[in-house]
Amino acid sequence: MSLAAMMAETPTLDWITDPALVRQKSRDFFWYSPVLKRQLNRVTGEAVVAVRSEAEVIAVLGAAHTHGVAVTARGAGTGNYGQAMPLAGGVVLDLSGLDQVVWCKPGVVRAQAGVKLIDLDAQTRQAVGGELRFHPSTKRTATIGGFIAGGSSGIGSTTYGILREPGNILGLRVITCEAEPRVLELRGDDVQQVNHAYGTNGIITEVELPLAPVWEWMDLVVAFPTLGAAAGFADAICRMDGVAKKLACVIAAPVAQDHFKNLGAAVPPGQSIALMMIAEPFMDLMPAIIAGHGGTELHRIASDDAPVPLYEHSWNHTTLQALKTDKSITYLQTLFPAPDHLALVAKMEAIFGDEVPIHLEFVRFGGAVCCFGLQLVRFTTEERLAEIIAIHEAAGAPIFNPHTFTLEEGGMKRVDARQLEFKRAADPKGLLNPGKMIAWDDPDWQPGRPQSVHLYETDYAAPAELLD
Ligand code: FAD
Repeated sequence: MSLAAMMAETPTLDWITDPALVRQKSRDFFWYSPVLKRQLNRVTGEAVVAVRSEAEVIAVLGAAHTHGVAVTARGAGTGNYGQAMPLAGGVVLDLSGLDQVVWCKPGVVRAQAGVKLIDLDAQTRQAVGGELRFHPSTKRTATIGGFIAGGSSGIGSTTYGILREPGNILGLRVITCEAEPRVLELRGDDVQQVNHAYGTNGIITEVELPLAPVWEWMDLVVAFPTLGAAAGFADAICRMDGVAKKLACVIAAPVAQDHFKNLGAAVPPGQSIALMMIAEPFMDLMPAIIAGHGGTELHRIASDDAPVPLYEHSWNHTTLQALKTDKSITYLQTLFPAPDHLALVAKMEAIFGDEVPIHLEFVRFGGAVCCFGLQLVRFTTEERLAEIIAIHEAAGAPIFNPHTFTLEEGGMKRVDARQLEFKRAADPKGLLNPGKMIAWDDPDWQPGRPQSVHLYETDYAAPAELLD
């Protein structure tokens, strides 16, 4: 491979080669996991190319194919399992310059992949009175392309489920990595070929999404004497299809008290909390529902007036708030499947107690209300972490392992034949984000086989003086 030849062929592109800057743009929030921190800390690309148009994406991918250079896409680099880290070195393709809304009409928006979610939401609200159906808690920083390629669900999943559910992505425009890159428009179920593929089988340049009606959202914090009472309340609200809501988050004591700078002092010792976002017209219903579950309202404010958005204490932000005050904390990503999710949560609470403080996000998933767990873990050893994961899985609570950087191990623990097939056609040399799709190297992979990280130990490790 020759990066120098690729750069010489594309001199008008915006290339960055300063090692410190390249390393900065080669990292994401992988350090959330002590396992990934150990495995990926030396990973860096050799150059960054910041594109400003789809034509430049095509130029990069054509030249990468010609010269055999690895290309790893990057939106804002907020992924939390090393998704955007270039395991094989090569080029980091910065897509944040593709930041335009292409068009919007009532109910639908089409935008370039690098537009920030917060800007996208603001523009569709103003232009057509619609907002994103759901967004990650990184709304203020992340891009829409990065969310689709690397994320799954978030604030709004109380009503609309996860990205993979039919109807949540209407269309994707994708560029292949071939001698003559093709521009493909995927629609209908074909979007799943590229959705949540970590940019391993095509580069998304445009997305088309349905919108939800805009409400005036209210942030609401409620305290409960037990985790079970808080979970019962969030579960009940999530089932009220007549009530417009977009957050139903439950956090066990003493997480808020110990780690939430803004809210913590208001939460009584020993009490668990529910963080809710409810549309303003439905707030009149809340006092009776809260009382019925034994709760006490602690705080309410219009979401637009909150100094820090309440959602930045939910989803993966709960872990971030905790990490700010205790660097030894890590986390899990768990499905507590319907209909026995509340019983399963209670069982895990009884087994692990304060070693795994519980954090739940109630969602409507596959048409049923259940909850995802993003529990905190008081980390001791990698062996104990693996044991905690195994106990959850044996009890019927699958873990989407956030301590691995591969698609298969972090997801459904199986090879996605459609995504692999798409990669064979769209990236025949295997240059896009190498090392993240195990099936490319081992199509017969089964869970339990070790990760292929050793395949991607390269000469492009960051210089020792840049390591922290
Ligand atoms: P990046 O991190 O830059 O990229 C993510 C992946 O997509 C990488 O594999 C990258 O190679 C690929 N990629 C990026 N752009 C493209 C493109 N145009 N074409 C092809 N591939 C591309 N995730 C959730 O789902 N829900 C949450 O609520 C949530 N909360 C979070 C909270 C915190 C504090 C943190 C650190 C992370 C959270 N995440 C969450 C994960 C992440 O922030 C989101 O998934 C986010 O949307 C990623 O966007 P990004 O622009 O930062 O993508």
